[in-house]
Amino acid sequence: MEVLGLCAICSKPARHTCSMCGRVVCSEHYVKRLHLCTNCARLHGDRERERPPDLKWMN
Ligand SMILES: [Zn+2]
Ligand SMILES: [Zn+2]
Repeated sequence: MEVLGLCAICSKPARHTCSMCGRVVCSEHYVKRLHLCTNCARLHGDRERERPPDLKWMN
């Protein structure tokens, strides 16, 4: 995969782009299920570790 830049959170090589804030983040700080960085996932009120993978708004 292509490295897009450095993670906005931890400065590791980043391969994902947050669909909300547009920042690039590493896989550790990217929530694939939501296509968001962990920052935005938190703002969105969805804890990536506690919630099961069912999203009302994705139906
Ligand atoms: Zn990171
Ligand atoms: Zn974000």
